[in-house]
Amino acid sequence: METGIRDIPDYPSPGILFKDITPLLADPALFAKAVDALAAAHRPGSGAEVDVVAGVEARGFIFGAGVALALGVGFVPIRKKGKLPYATVSAEYTLEYGTAVIEVHEDAVRPGQRVLLLDDVLATGGTAEAAAGLLEQVGAEVVALSFLVELGFLGGRDRLAGRQVNSLLHY
Ligand code: AMP
Repeated sequence: METGIRDIPDYPSPGILFKDITPLLADPALFAKAVDALAAAHRPGSGAEVDVVAGVEARGFIFGAGVALALGVGFVPIRKKGKLPYATVSAEYTLEYGTAVIEVHEDAVRPGQRVLLLDDVLATGGTAEAAAGLLEQVGAEVVALSFLVELGFLGGRDRLAGRQVNSLLHY
């Protein structure tokens, strides 16, 4: 099956097998199929409807924005440190390759709003754990975390134990 996902060995550092989604993005049929599949679990009548989709910079923006439009809800960006203009809350976390700080606007959601968190790849789960924590800090109910790709051997799903985790492709 054509996935549009290309393996790049040793990027961005030796030993990392990078999942490059740019061929998928360049193929309108594959891109639409991916967005539709990510949105499917949260359609009206699913029982898992959401008020907001949040996405993690940068590739989570691409899928998150698409899914938000597909579901007819708003989009919240979770960004790298120093990029958001208004008052933020922030979290530091460890990555498969380094550490990072992400931030969200403190007024990004209204209290109790149901949020779907989107990213392209679930690796160790550090990014998703930190992002979900930020959303909860600003008052969201995180309904589910969805990914295009899950790298199962890195144990991200275990790190996110107790949360609803959905992935389209498993490696
Ligand atoms: P993690 O916090 O370890 O789950 O890493 C997830 C974040 O890093 C996501 O935003 C991914 O885009 C990116 N990432 C981590 N590992 C990979 C990989 N092997 N291929 C592509 N992206 C990755």
